[in-house]
Amino acid sequence: MRKQNRVKTMQAVILKDRRVSVEEVPMPSVEEGEALIRVSKAGICNTDLEMIKGYMDFEGIIGHEFVGRVVETPVKDWIGKRVVGEINISCHKCEMCQAGYPKHCSSRRVLGIQGKEGVFAEFMTLPLSNLHSLPSEISDVEAVFVEPLAAALEILDQVQIRKEHEVLVLGDGKLGLLIAQVIRTQTPDVFCVGHHPRKLALLQRRGIRTCLKNCDRDQKFDMIVEATGNPKGISEALNRIKPRGKIVVKSTFYGQSGIDISRMVINEIQLIGSRCGPFEKALDFLKNKLIDVRDMVDGDYPLEEAQEALELAKRTKTIKVFLTP
Ligand SMILES: [Zn+2]
Ligand SMILES: [Zn+2]
Repeated sequence: MRKQNRVKTMQAVILKDRRVSVEEVPMPSVEEGEALIRVSKAGICNTDLEMIKGYMDFEGIIGHEFVGRVVETPVKDWIGKRVVGEINISCHKCEMCQAGYPKHCSSRRVLGIQGKEGVFAEFMTLPLSNLHSLPSEISDVEAVFVEPLAAALEILDQVQIRKEHEVLVLGDGKLGLLIAQVIRTQTPDVFCVGHHPRKLALLQRRGIRTCLKNCDRDQKFDMIVEATGNPKGISEALNRIKPRGKIVVKSTFYGQSGIDISRMVINEIQLIGSRCGPFEKALDFLKNKLIDVRDMVDGDYPLEEAQEALELAKRTKTIKVFLTP
């Protein structure tokens, strides 16, 4: 074990020229208002895999889902706290920040995605204002799901889902599985279409109806959440939405999606983009056991085996893979 305060370098997963390597790099320097955090566990997200393909054109330490402990900060109360952190680093001054939308800050940096080194490392930094202290009821494994769960919960802030609504979730990836569970807390009529019997079984155990690709294509839905991570997902959603329905789009991918705009116009479909969401609500859901994520982890690798971990995460059968520095 190295001594935390004296370490001059640390191990980190670096993305460069679409290649990932595990390297010894300088410790991050702590900027004003930031905390130095020792990463306890990190989660591999689909966004990380898309970034390796070229999405966001990022170079440096990747990763944005983490739980860690504060080791250094000017505000002593935070030292030793177990934390998760919001990934958008905002200026708190621009028009969008002032309007209460800091995640849309015009000069934002995004942890491990845009202008800010990420969490697949022994140490990381983040502004104190981004941190949330974890209650003891939430384990480290559950805590890594706070960020993606918050992204799933963002949907509830964007569209009103009532008990009588029939909602389709397209995609049984990491995010799709969380979204289906979140929507199930609002309406019993959630239906998830995916490609993987094992992942769909996880939803069935939670009372969610599922179906493998290509089944029952005639049923139309009031609302669809597109979480396929695939450029073709939106067209599929347009095939299955009722007139005047809402499609929430969650997929981010490297490349373009050709959408038939006329169909949207004729059927008066609303297309709603959806990104990061409320951490407080995610912490609340996990603390009160409204969502169970514990059976969603397929692997947990040390940082030096990040290549293997990413390979496993890429496999379509895999749900969630962790890295433990
Ligand atoms: Zn993510
Ligand atoms: Zn701003």
